[in-house]
Amino acid sequence: MKDEFDVIVIGSGAAGLTCAVVAAQSGLDVLVAEKAAFYGGTTAFSLGAAWIVGNRHQRALGIDDDVNTGDVYLKNTLGNHYDSAKAQAYLHSGAEMVDYMETKTEVRWQGVPMPDYFPDVTGARAGRTMLVKPFDGRTLGPNLRQMRLPLPGFSVFGSMQVDLLESSNYKNTFRNWDGFSFTAGKLLRFWRDRLTHGRGAFLANGNALIAGCFRVSPKRLLRLALMPALDRGRLEQALTHVEGLVRELMRPERRLPVATGQA
Ligand SMILES: Cc1cc2nc3c(=O)[nH]c(=O)nc-3n(C[C@H](O)[C@H](O)[C@H](O)COP(=O)(O)OP(=O)(O)OC[C@H]3O[C@@H](n4cnc5c(N)ncnc54)[C@H](O)[C@@H]3O)c2cc1C
Repeated sequence: MKDEFDVIVIGSGAAGLTCAVVAAQSGLDVLVAEKAAFYGGTTAFSLGAAWIVGNRHQRALGIDDDVNTGDVYLKNTLGNHYDSAKAQAYLHSGAEMVDYMETKTEVRWQGVPMPDYFPDVTGARAGRTMLVKPFDGRTLGPNLRQMRLPLPGFSVFGSMQVDLLESSNYKNTFRNWDGFSFTAGKLLRFWRDRLTHGRGAFLANGNALIAGCFRVSPKRLLRLALMPALDRGRLEQALTHVEGLVRELMRPERRLPVATGQA
């Protein structure tokens, strides 16, 4: 492991990993430092759906949308919470972010003609919410075991995940042969992965988003430092530890992005 970095990103959720990806793709040496025993943060628990106005998958579905329409929607739904600078930054960089991540990493979203969260509000459009495509966690090698497991309510047997778009197949398990062989195949694969990798390796939702960011390219993973001992401690202790790590590992005059979620 290299012992000096240009950028140390604090936090391994979607925000931190996206930042790490951009830095890594710019040729910088990046380390992602995570205080928990597992990487992925709240993002790994989530559905991983992204709400992006004018995204490329929405266009592919033939749905017209643009930032002005999105801005009208945000004004109508956010009321007093509407912040023009933040809304403009979000609207103008969202579609670019999707293009970037789908080109530079293994993250893949799936367009769905789902209505907007408030479909009757002026400015609403279908297709803004994109779902993450499943990810084959086996390609992460030993790093798979270090990823935060999905929430129990979003999985069965601890880590067997179901992709939203294929969930209807399970309904046919006892109705026809195709349904039965689909479910049997999924179960077989899950138990094989459990034996080999210690957990389910068919990753869906937020787990798939984290895996896709983490795998910057087919041959390259982000560099990660987990500090599990700090999980038991307080935030200040965590920060002190990180500061020590930063002093030790980071080249002078470089960057320390903090993406620690709600912590
Ligand atoms: C069940 C559920 C479903 C959701 N579904 C969606 C959805 O579909 N779409 C959507 O847009 N949002 C969804 N959300 C919200 C979304 O998950 C969060 O807004 C998002 O994950 C936040 O990402 P983040 O990178 O900012 O933080 P996180 O993913 O929480 O990552 C922060 C990381 O920083 C680490 N950290 C904290 N302090 C330190 C420290 N001192 N040193 C080192 N590391 C530190 C944390 O351990 C954590 O791993 C959902 C949330 C939940 C709970």
